[in-house]
Amino acid sequence: MGRKIELLLNDAIYNAGILGFLKVCEHGGLYVEKVGATISFDRDILENFTEHYFDTLIDVFGDDTVYHELLNRYEKISSNKDIEGYTKIFDDEFKYIKEKMQRNSYIAAFAIIKARGETYDFAGVIKQIKNESDYEIKFTLLAELMQKVASYSDVFMLKDIAYTKVQPFWNGAGFLHKTANKTEFKETFTKGFLQKIIDFEPLDPKKKGINCIQCDVKMNQTTGFGISWINDLGIDAGKKHNHYWNFNVDSFICPICALVYACIPLGFTMKGSEGIFINQNKGIKSMSNANSIPLLKNTEQKSDLYYTVLDGFIQNIQEQNAKNEIENIQVIRRTENMYTFNILSRDKLKVFYECKKNFANLVGKFYQLNGEYVNIYRDVLNRVMDGRNFYPLIHIILYEGIKNGKPLWTVKDIINIQVNLFKKGDVAMNSKAVYGVMMRGNGLRIAMMGNGQNENKLKTLSYHLLNSLKTRNADSFMDIVLRQYMSLKLPVPAIFVDVLSEEDKFLDVGYAFVAGLNGAGIKNDAKEEEN
Ligand SMILES: [Zn+2]
Repeated sequence: MGRKIELLLNDAIYNAGILGFLKVCEHGGLYVEKVGATISFDRDILENFTEHYFDTLIDVFGDDTVYHELLNRYEKISSNKDIEGYTKIFDDEFKYIKEKMQRNSYIAAFAIIKARGETYDFAGVIKQIKNESDYEIKFTLLAELMQKVASYSDVFMLKDIAYTKVQPFWNGAGFLHKTANKTEFKETFTKGFLQKIIDFEPLDPKKKGINCIQCDVKMNQTTGFGISWINDLGIDAGKKHNHYWNFNVDSFICPICALVYACIPLGFTMKGSEGIFINQNKGIKSMSNANSIPLLKNTEQKSDLYYTVLDGFIQNIQEQNAKNEIENIQVIRRTENMYTFNILSRDKLKVFYECKKNFANLVGKFYQLNGEYVNIYRDVLNRVMDGRNFYPLIHIILYEGIKNGKPLWTVKDIINIQVNLFKKGDVAMNSKAVYGVMMRGNGLRIAMMGNGQNENKLKTLSYHLLNSLKTRNADSFMDIVLRQYMSLKLPVPAIFVDVLSEEDKFLDVGYAFVAGLNGAGIKNDAKEEEN
């Protein structure tokens, strides 16, 4: 048995490290006890940590690498061999392969592979393929090259992972030390991190020495790690009251905490070089749940990590949490060499939860504006995060949709989110009222069409109503509605009278009416909504 080590959740960046550390342990089957906000384990479990660390990196990030893309490109060449235009396909794809294979990181990878005893000349073969004019020979050489590349997949993938997934978080240590790029990953990691843990014996707390700023263990200054290799440490959300703010160049961490920091990239959910971490720091388990985010299958959303993560979080939220225990959570995003911090307030999270069906309906939906497609889901989420209302968005969707004869039922979801976000009086009642108005609009549509009036008349009426809504003119809106009902000899729905006095209610109801008038309310889930 080795020394028992206990670590506590603290600031966001350290917590991401703890989560990453736990992922490695889980992947390697290493036993770690988790109680509340504390993890504890025997130092001896770290014996093969290096192995598990790289296995986890490859497992988590392997698919999102240039290496992976190289195989895709080769596959494209290989599967199009017999079609017309093959040489052009070959040239286009090979251009990509060649450029990527000639990057510095891969040239360093060739050196690592050579040191393993491989005699194959990667760089030479790439040039040979380029200069060869016979496409049969070109292909044979390329096939051989790709087979060689695949047989050293670990080296190539780790090169990609090191620079796109790890370097955004830390740099200049272990395998990212400037002199280490031609050395085996495992060797530099063990030397840089694990060996120091093995050599480390904490000092008696009464003895003279320095303390680790994270776990407080006492050590000699020579044993401690500085913190300059960890990117942007010490600017944690500008929380000046946090002791973390006092980090300075003289701060030291112990070898165990350095290993935790080395695991930060695995605590983040990443897409490309962008990462997101949800700092739910009440306990290890809730933090781990909050960050187990299934990536969306929808390609459009998949390309936007922030929304993918948020969506996953919304879909996963537990009902009891939504009702009673939701707390503000901190979302940390790593982009373009900086951290950004967002707080999702309890109120916003409740809206996300209560309207999750509405949000789900909006995924992958677009409207067209001046020939450009605009992502509705993204626009709505941005407005929720910023606390902006949805009226301009609803207006455009209705206006453009009516003009181009597009289905408008996304408007119902948007209005429902809007009503929940800006709670006005009894929310349930309002959602219902909005839906009722939409049905009234639909009723008027049926009456107008039945009366032999054509679509154009409906359009003209809609534009007039939208105009009144845009200028927030309830009187003119009511005038137009009244005239229409009277000309058809129909009673005016009472609901208008109740809501027109308040501007926001007028807008919710008015837009719902126009949406209904243009067929937005009629969808197969109409019955369910009514209950
Ligand atoms: Zn420590």
